Amino acid sequence: MAQIRVEALNKSFGEFHAVKGASFTVDDGQFLCLLGPSGCGKTTTLRMIAGLELPTSGTIRLDGEDVTMNRASARDIAFVFQLFALYPHMNVRRNIGFPLKCEGIGAAECDRRVVEAARILRISHLVDRSVSTLTGGDRQRVALGRAIVRKPKCFLMDEPLGALDTEMREAMIQELRALHDRLGATTVYVTHDQLEAMAMADLIAVMNNGVVEQIASPRDIYDRPVSLFVADFIGSPAMNFLPFRGSLQAGAQAIRLGDRDVAIPTAREALVESDLVLGVRPEHVRFSDSGMVRGEIYGSEYLGTTQIVTVTTPYGALKARSPASMPFRIGMNVGLDFRPDTLSLFDQGSGRAIR
Ligand code: ATP
Repeated sequence: MAQIRVEALNKSFGEFHAVKGASFTVDDGQFLCLLGPSGCGKTTTLRMIAGLELPTSGTIRLDGEDVTMNRASARDIAFVFQLFALYPHMNVRRNIGFPLKCEGIGAAECDRRVVEAARILRISHLVDRSVSTLTGGDRQRVALGRAIVRKPKCFLMDEPLGALDTEMREAMIQELRALHDRLGATTVYVTHDQLEAMAMADLIAVMNNGVVEQIASPRDIYDRPVSLFVADFIGSPAMNFLPFRGSLQAGAQAIRLGDRDVAIPTAREALVESDLVLGVRPEHVRFSDSGMVRGEIYGSEYLGTTQIVTVTTPYGALKARSPASMPFRIGMNVGLDFRPDTLSLFDQGSGRAIR
């Protein structure tokens, strides 16, 4: 298995700077998700790691060896695409075994490895079927089979579940993570779907506009976003943002919001009369008669065990996740409180979190 190290990677297409100084390390056996909106540079980063695209500058190392200029075929990496890229005229067995045949591996060894891959992916009963007769999920299993049969050092996957329906995707998320735990291969996985990333990754690199904004565990990305962009991109419904003007002393543990002091995680920096944003996740908003922010119930969205209640306040519309059993009336006046240890504070100008 292998460690992937990306150092100050840049890629320009003509005048357009698609990837801007990306640096990260994926340790041996780790599962990293590159996550971000369409066009942020995820696929370009992955293609550079694969050797399908040459960087404008920067270095890519596999197990310490500089492979930046190596051809894709010399990198011992398997790539799985969103589009299944199977050979429609071949059956499952031949599709999975194809890369081995290309490497000149003998028929008996090839067959042994195909059988093993099919068993791991639980498609042994399908090996003699034509791929054109398979469901989307099974086709994707065949595509994975073709990747794992080579026993590569790393897997690179570009939205491999993008073409599946929701139910099949949820099942495949579990399967892919279980497969990863079983094979232990270093994996870089591109997705724009935060739920996929949260469910599968050891590490998430959130990209925005060609820049890796944060790289951390799913929990840290969710609980301690480094920027307004990351805070907004992760979480559904999104984090609430309360814009206000205020000052902050270094070491402060509270900030003045309206006529109240709101407890915050200790601030390391000082700010004078700045545009600030308080961030609070919907599940950390509590209804309380003495709440620091007053508002009026605008509506609620029933989700089974919980409901998302929208409250109009002087800071804009805020969303609260509450038990579905809690009764609310539209137009009702309510007070809102926030759990202090869960609050995020951002500098509006730079978009960075104040820590
Ligand atoms: P998506 O999920 O939509 O593919 P992405 O985050 O993977 O988004 P990339 O495919 O890496 O984004 O593309 C990043 C930017 O670079 C986009 O604006 C894209 O149009 C541009 N780009 C990518 N490949 C090329 C190319 N060969 N020539 C010119 N521009 C390109």
